[in-house]
This record gives sequence, structure tokens and C-alpha cells, in this order.
Amino acid sequence: MSNDPKNTSKPAAATEHAPASNFLRGIIEADNASGKYANRSDALGRPLPAVVTRFPPEPNGYLHIGHAKAICVDFGIARDFGGRCHMRFDDTNPTKEEQEYVDTILDSVKWLGFDWKDKSGEHLYFASDYFDKFYEIAEYLITAGHAYVDSQSADDMAKNRGNFGEPGKNSPFRDRPATESLDLFRRMKAGEFKDGEHIVRAKIDMASPNMNMRDPAIYRIRHAHHHRTGDKWCIYPMYDYAHPLEDAIENISHSFCTLEFQDHRPFYDWVLERAAEGGFFKRPLPDQTEFARLNLTYAITSKRKLRQLIDENIVDGWDDPRMPTIVGIRRRGFTPESVQLFCERVGVAKSDSWIDMSTLEGALRDDLDEKAPRATAVLRPLKLIIDNFPDNLVDECSAPVHPHHPDRGHRHFPITKELWIEAEDFMETPSKGYFRLFPGNKVRLRYGYVVECTGCDKDADGKVIAVHCNYFADSKSGTEGANNYKVKGNIHWVSATHALEAQVRLYDRLFTDPHPDAGGKDFKLALNPNAKEVITAYLEHGMKAALPDQKFQFERHGYFVADRVDSQPGKPVFNRVVTLKDSWGK
Ligand code: ATP
Ligand code: MG
Repeated sequence: MSNDPKNTSKPAAATEHAPASNFLRGIIEADNASGKYANRSDALGRPLPAVVTRFPPEPNGYLHIGHAKAICVDFGIARDFGGRCHMRFDDTNPTKEEQEYVDTILDSVKWLGFDWKDKSGEHLYFASDYFDKFYEIAEYLITAGHAYVDSQSADDMAKNRGNFGEPGKNSPFRDRPATESLDLFRRMKAGEFKDGEHIVRAKIDMASPNMNMRDPAIYRIRHAHHHRTGDKWCIYPMYDYAHPLEDAIENISHSFCTLEFQDHRPFYDWVLERAAEGGFFKRPLPDQTEFARLNLTYAITSKRKLRQLIDENIVDGWDDPRMPTIVGIRRRGFTPESVQLFCERVGVAKSDSWIDMSTLEGALRDDLDEKAPRATAVLRPLKLIIDNFPDNLVDECSAPVHPHHPDRGHRHFPITKELWIEAEDFMETPSKGYFRLFPGNKVRLRYGYVVECTGCDKDADGKVIAVHCNYFADSKSGTEGANNYKVKGNIHWVSATHALEAQVRLYDRLFTDPHPDAGGKDFKLALNPNAKEVITAYLEHGMKAALPDQKFQFERHGYFVADRVDSQPGKPVFNRVVTLKDSWGK
């Protein structure tokens, strides 16, 4: 078969901006070299690019990170080869689809940075717009003897299908005259029959070793309302029949899909060959090529299972920041660039494998390290009192917005007598190698002064409630005196009188098992109880101005984003996107 994947993959390109080659790109390069899809034109005679791909989701749920990979493949390859990618809703299944899903899917694709509009127009399509065409071609197939109406019961049909070791048996209706099948098909369309009474099947080979070629169904009766065509139809085409026709109607050149469709490819080609013989399409016909699904560790990427997490209130909705949905990772704080970078790094493979969650997180760190302004946040606050600091003094300190980009300027924040520090930055009795605050030790308050710890206050239970220290007035960072102090510890802080109190949500992986649903396991047994912790933190007061979706690196802690849903003007709520280092399980 002409579209067997050819292994023409080259080693990954050295720079990540030049897209790494992969076997899909290799196929396109070969087709371009042979001119296979050159000089085509559409039905109106307008020239077609040699690369036309499509992204064809079913509008029955929210897109997830696996779809992001398909989007990067379909749209990314079209972009890189000067072609175009069609945004197509595969809405041939009437009962499951809703407008809400159409809207969110469009929004997610745009957010990822892709567009179905180009200078040739807007390439947004709905498979349901082709229902008349699908019907017309089915009538042709019946007339030409390539399809028939089968009237067996569902049970008999299943029984006569055979199985892997055993050929199927022809239906007693297989050889009914074409005119009789055609009449029945028209009456199916007219609504004369109940669901399941008849079905249209392709006439191929009931003994084929490929089960998908044993006279697969192409049309069924379904008295159901469709979100776009309403009650016009009570028969609907099967996915395997409709999909190749959708591709051909839209002049798709390269139809990429995931590996589970490999065994369906012979039928894909069969449908297109028959339709081309009938004069419905010109050659060259679209070419289907399969690539490996993205399986991400510590996540699940099945719409059905994701829906279960919502229905059972395990998460707070499709856009819960713990969800691997596009709306979820967006709210969590992932950037479109980091997702694209991730997809590039993962590449496309010809066999299924697991990609580690740390690869996704690593792409985010690499993207945000350069972009994210720095800020200070104290997440587990403990009071630090500088006893020799003048009571009402408000002294200004400053720090670079970004340590590698002096051009981005400085941020300013006050130091005062009472500060918040991290509870873990003090130990009354230090462990070996601990060089932060303990009685008698000196540390630098980052961007501020050197202080020497003098002791602590405790409550009735012996819990430390405040730490005391004295500062050295000539030790301020950025002044000459600073160099006279050599200390090992450097801790962050915010002024207790000026800090912004804010809700911070510490998110972590949703599952503790890298393969939560592998082998039919109950993924609910692997839920990470610590995947969401809500705390009240003290932030550098400038964070008051943070806008929804704005990302920061909270020094020493990780990357955080102002939540796009719950942040109010002057009152941001932050989500932890990811910690600074991959410390999972360590
Ligand atoms: P689910 O199984 O979760 O319902 P789906 O495959 O049925 O997902 P579709 O809406 O049919 O979802 O998918 C649209 C496109 O996205 C298809 O081409 C499909 O192959 C691709 N896709 C879906 N999941 C993944 C994945 N995990 N990795 C790569 N591509 C995927
Ligand atoms: Mg599907």
C-alpha cells in the first residue's frame, strides 16, 4: 500500500525552532518530491496547496493534552510546509454532541496558537454539512453492487461476523437485488423503520483476516436529534465510512490519525477507491498515516474517564488546574509555547509509549524561566522581628525583575521591623549542615540586610511563633558594606506590614501512580490526596497588580500564575504551575 509509513526519520534538529524531522514529515517530503499532490485544484478551480491536513475532533468533550499533540501535528506540519489545516468537527454521531464543546474546542485550538483561517479563507468545517453527499455516495455504492441493506438482527449479525480465528458467514440478505436494497435504504431515510431494523453494509469479504473488512456497516437508523441538522435525518453514517469521505470532500492530502486506526486504513482506502470509481472524487486521494497516541504518566487522557472525575466531584470541573484538559492546563498556568515545545520534544513515533509528566513540566520551566518576572512569596509564614530595627522605619530594597535581563528593570519593596519568613528557614536546634536561621547564626535577608538570630518566642505548646534577630545597618545589599559580611544562608522575606495576603493553591500531580488506568486499573485508587492544597501566603506587595493569567517565578518556590477565574482586581489568587525543580517522588 502506498501509504505505509516510510521510515525516513532523521536525527532531531539541533535547534528547537527548526522543527525536528519525523516520519510524517518524511512522507510529506517524499510526496512533495514526487509531486503527488502538486497542481491540484478544488471544485471551483482554485489551486490547492500540496499539503492539506485536518484536525477532526468529535465535539463530545473537552480537548486534552493528547489532542494538543494531534493539533501540533496537524496544524504544525501544514504550517511548516506552507499548506493549510482544516478545523473539522466530526459530528456524525447525533446524540453525544453539543455546541458547548464546539465552542471550547475552537477556543483551545486558538489558544494553542493555531488558526484555521488563511489567505484562502476560513477552513472551519462540520462533517454534518456533508450528510447529503454521504447519502448520495451510499446510494451509488448500493446501485453499483458495493453495498447492501442487511436486515439480520443485531445478534445474528454479531454471530455471523466470526472472530479472529474464524471467518464470518455471509448474511442471507447479502445478495438481495440492488434495487431492493436501494428501496429499503430510501425507506430507512424516510423514517419507515425503527432503530436497528436495517443497516447498510459495504460488500467486501466476510472471510477477511481484517475484521474491519467483513462487510462493515456504513449507515444505521438512529431516530435522534442532531445539534446542527435537527430532525432532518434518522439515518446516520458510521465513522469509518464518513471519515474518508470527509477527507476527500475537503481535498485533504495527508490525513494523520492515531495508531488504533491502522486496521481501519484498508477500509478507508476501499471507500475512497469506490467513490473515485463512481466519479465522486479525483485522484490523488487522501492518504491516511497513523502515529502513536500521547500517553502521559500521572495523567489520564480518556474523555470518558475525565468526565467521571467531574461527575464524581473529584475535581472542580473541566478547567480544574489538575485536569490534563487544555482548559485545565491553561488555567494551571501552562503557556501555549510550553505545550508546543513539549509536543516538539516528544516528536511523533510509530509505536505507543509513555511520555513522562516531567517532560511537560520541563518544557514549562524552560519557557517560563526566560519570561517570568521574579517575585517573593512566603508560603508557610513565620514572624521574624528585627529587634534593633527602628520601629517606624520603612526602608526600600530592590531586586531585578529578571536576573538575566537587567533591561527589564527592578522591583522595589520595603523592609520593616516585622517580616514574614518561611517557617522552615528557622531551626531552634539546627540539624547538621543547616545554615539558615538558628540562635547565634547570621544570614542575609535576600536583597536586604544581614541579621543575626537571637532566639525565638513559643506558645504554650512549645510551638515557635516568632523569631528574633538584630540587623547590621551597614550590611545592605548593593552597598559597599555588604561585602564585609560573609554568610552562608540567604533567605527570602516580605514586610509583615506591607505584604499582600493572598490565597495560593499548591497543585501537584493528580495521581500517584505513573499509569493510573493501565490495564483496566481503577484510576480512582491512585488519586493523589495532596494534589491541591489551599494556603494563605504573604506576597511581595507589588503582586497586588498581577493580572489574571500573568505568570511569575516565586523565588525558591516555583512558577505561579494569577488564576484566570478567581482573581479579582487587586486581589489575585495564585496557582502553582510547577516547582522549580523536578522533585517528584524524591
Ligand atoms: P477520547 O478517546 O478521549 O474520546 P478521541 O480520540 O475519541 O478521544 P477525537 O475527538 O476523536 O477524540 O480526537 C480528535 C483527534 O485527536 C483524532 O485525530 C485523535 O486521533 C487525536 N487524539 C485523541 N487523543 C489523542 C492522544 N492521546 N494522542 C494523540 N492524538 C490524539
Ligand atoms: Mg473519537
